[in-house]
Amino acid sequence: MKTQEPIVSIRGLRKSFGEHLVLQGIDLDVQPSQVVVIIGPSGSGKSTFLRCCNGLEPADSGRVEICGRVLTDAGHMLGDLALNRLREDVGMVFQSFNLFPHLSAIDNITIGPRKVRGMSRQQANAEAMDLLDKVGLRQKAHAMPGSLSGGQKQRVAIARALAMQPQVMLFDEPTSALDPELVGEVLQVMKLLATEGMTMMVVTHEMDFAREVGDVVVVMDGGVVIEAGPPSTIFTNPAQSRTRDFLRAVLSRN
Ligand code: ADP
Ligand code: MG
Repeated sequence: MKTQEPIVSIRGLRKSFGEHLVLQGIDLDVQPSQVVVIIGPSGSGKSTFLRCCNGLEPADSGRVEICGRVLTDAGHMLGDLALNRLREDVGMVFQSFNLFPHLSAIDNITIGPRKVRGMSRQQANAEAMDLLDKVGLRQKAHAMPGSLSGGQKQRVAIARALAMQPQVMLFDEPTSALDPELVGEVLQVMKLLATEGMTMMVVTHEMDFAREVGDVVVVMDGGVVIEAGPPSTIFTNPAQSRTRDFLRAVLSRN
């Protein structure tokens, strides 16, 4: 097998909030086009971990290298300008969509390329229509977020992130706020991105997605990675009893 340079490389990542040590030394490599699914109980540090990967949260120590740049090393983070540039390469999708409520779907998608990249409105609109096609929402281009369902809002949020042509996409529980019948349409878009070769780090409780789309499943508990491996191993023969307990609890919910 061809050995590649990881596109994300994390070593000894630590982060506290006050006295509370939330990340206790995380190590992880992500290869280009890999889909890494991060699971674990609430409060285990999954969101904090993702936020440290794009500098939304400063790490206390350890090293994060992503998209060819050292984001943080031993508590020193990239400066604001370089950080903004890095965030163009690292797209993020949140549970709560975070669309601009006063902008239409297409304007939510074009605002980044226009304001940050200086792209013309015409070109930004053309690219946004292609992205709306990809997420199945061409007909909603001029809809305001308030008139969209949660699943549609999340698909616009994904299109908005893609408009910056990121190299890595981070998803933090992108379907957790959705009514059950809308989860599938969002997962389907994420699956499409995965098949197109997008590098993705996905925090989710959707175990079918993890099993089907994940290349690696990372199990976090108490601020550490307790185990990581291919879904076939993690779901059928996990090494840790805490993984078994967590999976039993999540799967019994469905
Ligand atoms: P998860 O996403 O796995 O549920 P989080 O990363 O959100 O976990 O949180 C891990 C721990 O860090 C929790 O105990 C949470 O209360 C705490 N935490 C997260 N963000 C903050 C913050 N901004 N300030 C203080 N504590 C925080
Ligand atoms: Mg979280």
